[in-house]
Amino acid sequence: MIELEAITKIYTKGFLRQQKTTAVNNVSLSIKKGGSLGLVGESGSGKTTLGRIALRLIEPTIGTVRFDGVNLMALSRSALRQIRPRMQIVFQDPDTSLDPRMTVRECIAEPLKIWNLVEPQDREDRVLELFDLVGLQPDLIGRFPFEISGGQKQRVALARVLALSPEFIVADEPTAALDLSVQAQVLSLIKTIQKKTNLTLLFISHDLQIIEQMCDTVAVMHKGAIVEQGTPRGILRDPKDPYTQKLIDAAYESEAWLGK
Ligand code: ADP
Ligand code: MG
Repeated sequence: MIELEAITKIYTKGFLRQQKTTAVNNVSLSIKKGGSLGLVGESGSGKTTLGRIALRLIEPTIGTVRFDGVNLMALSRSALRQIRPRMQIVFQDPDTSLDPRMTVRECIAEPLKIWNLVEPQDREDRVLELFDLVGLQPDLIGRFPFEISGGQKQRVALARVLALSPEFIVADEPTAALDLSVQAQVLSLIKTIQKKTNLTLLFISHDLQIIEQMCDTVAVMHKGAIVEQGTPRGILRDPKDPYTQKLIDAAYESEAWLGK
């Protein structure tokens, strides 16, 4: 479904663009249709850059991205636009994707309108259907984003994405901004929807335990490169790379600190 081939991204900045950061260094990955791959690594390891490259929201310096057999790098702007609804991103902070001046109903109806996905008279029904899919109570529909909780906002953001019936989703730390108590609910919602709609998922997290819960495979990213790949269980039990071991140790420490 999604194939990344030898992706490198070098950011340049400063005078004559002389300052260079290699955010992603020669990474190849693939995810089968309906599969879920977790990308784990500490902050600054290149996860967000790689996730956005997979959707061609960022151009790689070198490398190829294939979506459903189509080379995204070779597509024209208009051909890329055609394919856009099929691949979507869920951000860490739902406020990024919700317009504070729109009611929740309008937020979810907007993509339906823009992409002309349902007849205008059927829009309200579709919005309610999406509401139900993400587990929101219908009485919230007239509220503004600031009138609902963080968890509810992330459900609305998810409904907006699902309105497009995407086949591939990049979820970039989708629960990192939420209270611990609601994180689990939103994660299990994403998992349920992924299974139900056979979504292909690239799930980004700095937390291996969350990845274990969400994904069939995990790729460990360190300084822009993939240092290890396998099943989450296998990697948690028997990490081959010293960096992975460090990630696991850090996770146990933070858990103890949280008093889990
Ligand atoms: P992660 O999501 O794992 O925290 P990022 O992909 O955000 O990692 O960042 C990887 C590296 O690239 C970091 O060193 C970061 O500072 C750098 N970087 C990210 N975005 C930009 C940008 N737009 N311009 C310059 N450097 C960037
Ligand atoms: Mg990031």
